[in-house]
Amino acid sequence: MTATQHIALISVHGDPAIEIGKEEAGGQNVYVRQVGESLAKQGWQVTMLTRKTHPDQEPIVEHHDNCRTVRLTAGPETFVHRDKIFPYLPEFVTQIQHFQQDVGIQYSLIHTNYWLSSWVGMELKQRQPTVQVHTHHSLGSVKYRSVSDIPPIASTRLATEKRCIETIDRVIATSPQEMEDMRKVTSKGNIEVIPCGTDIHRFGSIPKTTARQILGISPETKLVFYVGRFDPRKGIETLVRAIGHSQLRGKADLQLIVGGGSRSGHKDGDERDRLIALVRDLGMEEFVHFPGRIADGQMAEYYAAADVCVLPSHYEPFGLVAIEAMACGTPIVASAVGGLQYTIAHEETGLLVPPKDDIAFAEAIDRILCNPEFREELGLAARQRVLEQFSWDSVAERLSRVYTQLLEEPVLQL
Ligand code: UDP
Repeated sequence: MTATQHIALISVHGDPAIEIGKEEAGGQNVYVRQVGESLAKQGWQVTMLTRKTHPDQEPIVEHHDNCRTVRLTAGPETFVHRDKIFPYLPEFVTQIQHFQQDVGIQYSLIHTNYWLSSWVGMELKQRQPTVQVHTHHSLGSVKYRSVSDIPPIASTRLATEKRCIETIDRVIATSPQEMEDMRKVTSKGNIEVIPCGTDIHRFGSIPKTTARQILGISPETKLVFYVGRFDPRKGIETLVRAIGHSQLRGKADLQLIVGGGSRSGHKDGDERDRLIALVRDLGMEEFVHFPGRIADGQMAEYYAAADVCVLPSHYEPFGLVAIEAMACGTPIVASAVGGLQYTIAHEETGLLVPPKDDIAFAEAIDRILCNPEFREELGLAARQRVLEQFSWDSVAERLSRVYTQLLEEPVLQL
């Protein structure tokens, strides 16, 4: 690599510069931002390209030297649900070309994120020589198995994902499970496993007692924590029901915090309203809390304060929340699905249980809450596992090696 090598991370619907936890912003936004910043530290000139979703948004946000977000106008400058963005993609490709002309750069490598961006990347590759690397973040072939309302865009998405796996230079699977899922789509193509990472300095810097003092939580409280988007596939209902079944209910100061989400009227807001109603119906309002979006700066405090962090997803390609909590020394109870089976070592750093099984979740959560020594052991091993395998710098180093290797090979224009 030369120090001036320009690369672009393309994330059409996941703006790396916006607040995480609101609306549709989640793991993909974090991944793109963190990978971008870590790659810049290693000497790459990184531009992160995304779609502008509000007229007041800055068109360019500088994060660090050599790392910026550029917002391109494609379609209306307003939030558009990801299932409705496809018609605006040709315009997005044209805007990338205009932007390159304006700044006098041609990206020699593009790393695309989610199927929408993979389409953009494949289209750009027809127009200029460039290497394409891709991370799916979510696979239609898996997702559509776990949802009842399949959107009209599904067939386009499935076909695009297959073409992407088969034809682009390198596809990154964030876990061996995701690689297997891709292999069920097609046996062709170059796939490599490189996990997501987390900030091992930010997460893990606060002792539990300090975190509880800051948040005003008593040392006696048995605190269960969830954070993430309010998407039905996150399985939050299973967690709420599990807490309802806990043997500690009514016997100890059991509290559940369900963090994340945005205002009513948005898709995640509706899911949150549904869950708040469920909590009311189950008579659990006194000990189940919905604090809304948790600011970046407070995440480490919440994880550290919790006795256990729960991820009840029906499908989870990777699950950044798992490694963030683990980095803070907090054990996890999670569904045995997708990437969670890779990040969490069952009985060592947390407990894996069947998805949608609220009784199994209740038992696993109680096992940790009722055994402080077991909790301690799991928590220490969890932090250790993250240090060894999941720091952003190590992830970016591995991506960097892939980029360098691909850039040294002759580029084939499609
Ligand atoms: N997050 C946050 N505040 C919130 C909710 C979520 O900062 O209120 C962050 C969380 O720390 C994590 C990301 O959003 O980094 C969620 O990523 P994950 O892979 O767990 O889920 P996804 O959103 O990709 O389904």
